[in-house]
Amino acid sequence: MEQLLDSALLASEAAQLRAGLQGQVIFPEEPGYDDARLAWNRKIVQYPAVIVEAETAQDVVTAVSFARDHHLGVAAQATGHGNVRPADDCLLILTHKMTGVTIDPIARTASVEAGVKWGAVLAAAQQHGLAPLLGSSPTVGAVGYTLGGGLGWLGRKYGLAADNVLHFEVVTADGQLRRAANDENTDLFWGLRGGGGSLGIVTSMTIRLFPVSQVYAGNLFYPASMAQDVLRHYRAWIADAPDELTTSVVMMNFPPLPEMPDFLRGQSFVMVRGCYCGSVADGETLLRHWRDWRPPVIDDFKPIPFAAAATISNDPVDPMPGFTSGAWLQELSDEAIAALVAYGLGTDGRSPLVFTEIRHAGGAIRRAARETAVYGNRDSELLLLLVGVAPTVEAQQQLAAYTDQLKDALRPSLTGGVYMNFLEGAESQQRIRDGLAPGGYEQLASLKARLDPENLFRFSFNISPARN
Ligand SMILES: Cc1cc2nc3c(=O)[nH]c(=O)nc-3n(C[C@H](O)[C@H](O)[C@H](O)COP(=O)(O)OP(=O)(O)OC[C@H]3O[C@@H](n4cnc5c(N)ncnc54)[C@H](O)[C@@H]3O)c2cc1C
Repeated sequence: MEQLLDSALLASEAAQLRAGLQGQVIFPEEPGYDDARLAWNRKIVQYPAVIVEAETAQDVVTAVSFARDHHLGVAAQATGHGNVRPADDCLLILTHKMTGVTIDPIARTASVEAGVKWGAVLAAAQQHGLAPLLGSSPTVGAVGYTLGGGLGWLGRKYGLAADNVLHFEVVTADGQLRRAANDENTDLFWGLRGGGGSLGIVTSMTIRLFPVSQVYAGNLFYPASMAQDVLRHYRAWIADAPDELTTSVVMMNFPPLPEMPDFLRGQSFVMVRGCYCGSVADGETLLRHWRDWRPPVIDDFKPIPFAAAATISNDPVDPMPGFTSGAWLQELSDEAIAALVAYGLGTDGRSPLVFTEIRHAGGAIRRAARETAVYGNRDSELLLLLVGVAPTVEAQQQLAAYTDQLKDALRPSLTGGVYMNFLEGAESQQRIRDGLAPGGYEQLASLKARLDPENLFRFSFNISPARN
């Protein structure tokens, strides 16, 4: 299927492609190619046959049409935070120059172009006292995040980002720019909400915003030695948490980096983090569960502007070679807690994981109408996220083996479901069925057969077009 552009074709066709585009075209051997093929996740090494730096929706139409005519697969990249399969031998569309954000404060919506990072939407929306449903990092791309579901700090109150899209503009494999909404191209709309970029290249989306300008949020740090007790106390805390409260518990092994503050460098903690979007007084009452229990080493829960939501997780901003895995848990049993602590912190005090996080979902995510999106696992409330740093292939393999062992130890408590935004590489390719609603894979495969029979968009979630 993969078909490289040979050099003769390159010479004759490059001019044609360039003439049809406002943005740049970069072939291998041309200046800028090695910078353009970089992803934020430096673990990704990819060699596209051609790179198009799209500036407009029409550029995306031209690029997809060119790829289809030359039997090239098509990959999309806004930031490179979530690349699940390297964009080798294909046409890679970079969207980072499509940065338009328009807020409608009356309708409480934002129109967001394909290359926009969440931070830009947050900053623009907060000027009107409104908030988008971003996740823990404002440097993640809004569209890529939303296509995979989109679980953030307002998730239990307002739901997934994908549930709050009013419409997508998307270029399908036939080179048509289509509008997908709940009254137009409804099957495409359904498949884009949780199905990743497997059905087309999104050029923009219009999303709902919510009236949130201040939250009661932050972190409690406890000594790593208290991890089991903290996880059990967390289990009790979230059992009757209101929807306004979205939280997680993290076993954190801070790397020994010089830029870290002294008290964190090379240290391990168990941290309770979260965001309450009700009143400050109610937030303080909820935090008494912890403050009246045992005093944390650090307590920075306080009222903050939602504009500062990135300070809750303090995710890395600079590019790095990250490894990610995860799974849905059905319970935090004592046995599951013991396994999470043993692997998260390491039995000898050393774990290859930087962090092991359990996020609390449910609430509005669980209640959303199921037939409107291919996103699955809505009844699962406990999401395990495992993150490590993998600068070499050996480190990646070690992390994959270690996280497999942890998941084996957790087996009785796993639901069998996964959250696609937190998977990468082979695991993402293999587990797609487990990330979707029941029957979702088969329905998406039928849609692929109609809309993308050659599977141009095979660099996203792995859906093979159904063969009749
Ligand atoms: C530090 C960090 C924090 C994160 N926090 C959260 C979180 O809190 N909640 C959460 O749900 N997820 C989170 N994620 C996961 C993140 O949502 C996914 O990795 C997401 O795919 C990243 O999108 P991107 O555009 O930034 O990345 P990219 O690598 O540019 O894109 C990822 C994939 O999305 C698809 N895609 C991107 N743009 C388009 C487009 N225009 N059309 C079609 N397909 C497209 C492609 O398949 C592409 O391979 C986090 C990831 C990181 C690294």
